[in-house]
Amino acid sequence: MTNRLRSRRQFMGLAGVGVAGLAGGPLLTPLAAAEAEEPDLVVVNAKVYTVDSSRPKAEAFAVRSGRFTATGSSGEIRGLIGKGTQTFDARQMSIVPGFIDCHNHAPGATLLYDVVVGNPYEVEFVTIASIVEKLRAKAHETPAGVWVEGYFFDDTKLKDDRQLSVRDLDQVSKDHPVVVHHRGGHTSYYNSKALEMADVNKSTPNPPGGTFDRDTDGGLNGRVTDRARAVFNRVGKRTTFTEAQTMERDRDGLAYISKQFARYGVTSVHHEGGNLEALQQVRARGDLLHRVSYEASGKVLDAMISSGMMTGFGDEWIRLGATSEHGVDGSFSERTMALSIPYPGMTPPYKGNVTETQDELNAWVERVHRAGIQVNCHANGDVAIGMMLTAVERAQKLFPRTDARPKITHCTLINDDLVRRIKAAGALPAVFTSYAYYNSDKFRFYGEDLMKRSMAFRTFLDAGIPAAAGSDFSPGPFDPRMAIQGMVTRTGWDGKTWGANQRITVEEALRVNTLNGAYNSHEETIKGSITPGKLADFVVLSDDLFTMDPGRIKDVQVVRTVVGGKTVYQA
Ligand SMILES: [Zn+2]
Repeated sequence: MTNRLRSRRQFMGLAGVGVAGLAGGPLLTPLAAAEAEEPDLVVVNAKVYTVDSSRPKAEAFAVRSGRFTATGSSGEIRGLIGKGTQTFDARQMSIVPGFIDCHNHAPGATLLYDVVVGNPYEVEFVTIASIVEKLRAKAHETPAGVWVEGYFFDDTKLKDDRQLSVRDLDQVSKDHPVVVHHRGGHTSYYNSKALEMADVNKSTPNPPGGTFDRDTDGGLNGRVTDRARAVFNRVGKRTTFTEAQTMERDRDGLAYISKQFARYGVTSVHHEGGNLEALQQVRARGDLLHRVSYEASGKVLDAMISSGMMTGFGDEWIRLGATSEHGVDGSFSERTMALSIPYPGMTPPYKGNVTETQDELNAWVERVHRAGIQVNCHANGDVAIGMMLTAVERAQKLFPRTDARPKITHCTLINDDLVRRIKAAGALPAVFTSYAYYNSDKFRFYGEDLMKRSMAFRTFLDAGIPAAAGSDFSPGPFDPRMAIQGMVTRTGWDGKTWGANQRITVEEALRVNTLNGAYNSHEETIKGSITPGKLADFVVLSDDLFTMDPGRIKDVQVVRTVVGGKTVYQA
């Protein structure tokens, strides 16, 4: 079949659906019908990588009412131009489907209003002195006894040749409880005042699922992991806001982060919770530039279950997706994930934190699964992934449901048996994307043997498991270019390569970051590829990912981001 025929057939097929849909409505004259088919936008003279296996490459495409209507050669698509059609000459730049991020905390309000002590978007080294200085400035304007908090700390991006400690944070203030949160979200660093207020001292035992870390002399060093942090939530005052102030901050935060997504070519994002009402208001005021798969927890999840709202409820801008990540273990980047063997070289031997019992997990999964909601657990280490699969297998046996697609957020360290179970359960890993590049400085804590089985895109794809991209921002930068470069090269910012056996091709990495993301939220029929009938979400890139040096993909320029046929970002 020639390209031309294929394109026309698809185009006609789509128009046919439209006309059939009007059968019961007012009759259109043939002329009006033709005008209704006229594209709003055509893009020509491009290298279009569609991620549609039935037609992987094209030169041009047409868009009408926010959807792709045809792909083909520039000549064919020019033939569709009507009076009202806008034409975009891509001058041989590449175009790919809009990128989809399946795991993002979208911390817009933090970025806008809080003390940010590290670089959220890129590899950048900072000094401990700069962190202390920023927090000290905040302490000056904060009443004594009220928490002073810093965000986006990364323990392996320090210029100092040592770790941040309780003594550094005592320099910030002796009158305020002070905390610095690691961007990974599972460890925090406290000053003496905070430890004292929480009544934590060197004889305090570690609680289940967390640790109070110590220096070699046995004194507290200020670092606290996972569930051990709970005691700090109950002490000290926190700056409070009225309901109206909170709404305003949340709205502005969401509008702000939406702009950042557009800047990086990210057109769909799975949000870990957040203010659903504010999100809808941001959309109503026209500031939502990306599509949201909203992943509920807490009150919203309870309300979904009690009112019978299932995954899929909503529309193409805001839709209820899977649940938020339900935590089963600790963190990869902060080295608290639950391993079946001790962390290499650690004394005393440490196997990470399991933050949930199997019984608690079984009950949670059963409750969500029965309600027709897509289960989503945070499971990093092999132990945690196994626990989640046990809970999912149990729930499926009790209440079988087809196409449930349980989502495993991170799914970092795997083995052959886990891969077999993931495949059998139809489970979907949403794997760290930017880590191979951004966090290569942390892989030595695991070593090459474990890295060969970590962030295992090659293994998943070879097994026919449609692994998707989950940046986990804040923990990881969400830049899809950095993600693709890392997946293809497995080489970090420091030039070191880890787990090269898990490399995937550019074509595969593009699919992971687009179509597989759509599949992850049951939306593969409406987005994820440049296919007639799908939503017109696409990105214009300055260079060709397929022919350029893979070690420079991260530096490609995002020239334009388009969502539903509308430009939301232009360089
Ligand atoms: Zn997360």
